[in-house]
This record gives sequence, structure tokens and C-alpha cells, in this order.
Amino acid sequence: MKWAEVVAFALANGMRLKRKEDSRLMRLIAFLVWPVNPSFMGGYYTTIRGTFYIPASDWGRNGAIDEDTLRHEAQHARDSRRWPVLFELSYVFGNLGIVVGPGMRAFWEWRGYRLNVEAMAKRGQSVEEAIDYVVPQFIYQWYGWAGGLPCWPFRGYWERKVRRTYQRAALPSPPGPI
Ligand SMILES: [Zn+2]
Repeated sequence: MKWAEVVAFALANGMRLKRKEDSRLMRLIAFLVWPVNPSFMGGYYTTIRGTFYIPASDWGRNGAIDEDTLRHEAQHARDSRRWPVLFELSYVFGNLGIVVGPGMRAFWEWRGYRLNVEAMAKRGQSVEEAIDYVVPQFIYQWYGWAGGLPCWPFRGYWERKVRRTYQRAALPSPPGPI
């Protein structure tokens, strides 16, 4: 997407955009998770409390962020506004691999990736493509965070979820009245 479209989408969805390197909160998290994820600052998009933090390398750049990513992050923005304490705890602790971590993080991430699967189905990409893209995010590691600790490492579970979501989204819309 063009940068102007990213900005317009964020505005329409009540999502703030911020350069990740300019945020004290992001610098703090980067410091905390550094031992398990040294590329937190430059290598990942992060959305907390309605703000989408974008690494400097992508900031302001046309074509850096695609629509699927933006919709995924907008879902995180809505969730973190609706359940601020739960969302933030599961992110911060989850990213350190502590207590509520893996399961909770998977729960929020699925709410985002569901939208990616729906978009892929509507574009006519295959269900296998959707599975190949989404399932590894959950079973191998959560984006490399927590040093490869799996998010929720049950392949069959995620495959079924992706298939079900894909099939529902791929259904033709019911015919309207004449
Ligand atoms: Zn996400």
C-alpha cells in the first residue's frame, strides 16, 4: 500500500501510527526481550494500546506495508483497547515466555491471522497456501520471540482452524433479493 493509504486506513480505524524507535515503551520492551529476541526493534511490527509501531526501515515508505498486515494489526489495536490489561500482560509476559505467555499470545494472534486467512480465501489463494503461511507462525516459534518457544505447538489444531476459516470465507455470498 502507499504510505498515504496506510495513514488513511489507520485514521479510519482509530489506530495511531508511531515510529518504533521513537517510542520509550518500545525501547524498554526491546531492552527486556533482547536476550531472547535481539531483533525486536527492527524486525517486527508491534501493536499495543491502539498504536501500531512501525520500524524505521518501513516508516513512511510506499509498499512497505500490505493491506493484510494492516488489517491484522488493526485487530490487535481493537483488542488491546477492549482488553487492555489482559492484552498487555499476555504480550509482555508472553514475549518473555512466562506464565500466561504461549496460550494467551496464540489467542490474540489467531484473532489477527484469521483475517489473513479470510483475505487469502477471498483472493482465491489455495487453502494449502493459507496453511503454509499461518500454521508455522504458531507452531515453530512466535516470530522468533522467546527464542523459539512455540506459541501453541499443535499443528493439527491450527490446520483445522485455518481450513474451517478458509472454507467459510470462500463460500459465495448468498444471493440477494431480486
Ligand atoms: Zn499479530
